Amino acid sequence: MVISVDVDVNKIARFGRDFFWQKPSACPHCGAALWWHGFVLAYFDHLPQAVFLRRLRCPRCGAVHRLRPKAYWSRFRSTIQIINQTIDRFLSQGWQSELPGSRQLQWWRRFCAKARLMIGFGWEHFLDAFDLLVGWGQIPVSSVV
Ligand SMILES: [Zn+2]
Repeated sequence: MVISVDVDVNKIARFGRDFFWQKPSACPHCGAALWWHGFVLAYFDHLPQAVFLRRLRCPRCGAVHRLRPKAYWSRFRSTIQIINQTIDRFLSQGWQSELPGSRQLQWWRRFCAKARLMIGFGWEHFLDAFDLLVGWGQIPVSSVV
């Protein structure tokens, strides 16, 4: 499970494995105290190299958790804000030049599919759909429902 934490990805990149991570108080599944369980590499848009994110393991239920900066959704290297802006601007301004077009198209297609599937809105309400999906705990540009 991914646990979102309020950390600056630039500081994680600067300090590497020496970055001070605040350990979550308990396992989200069973409430037991967690143990550190190494690192996992992750890539973020503005950083040329991967950064080390902390992992934890629950000794009671065996679940492995990963800490991730809360500005990012799991499995996305762009910030939530950038994704939101890209979807928001797509209808009026088209692609943003600073991001790969293939990635923007993938987000747009997934967003449209998820909005149609879960909400059934028409095109004029897609931007409301983004916030609605986020409010439901969904990642609007993920293929996972
Ligand atoms: Zn547990």
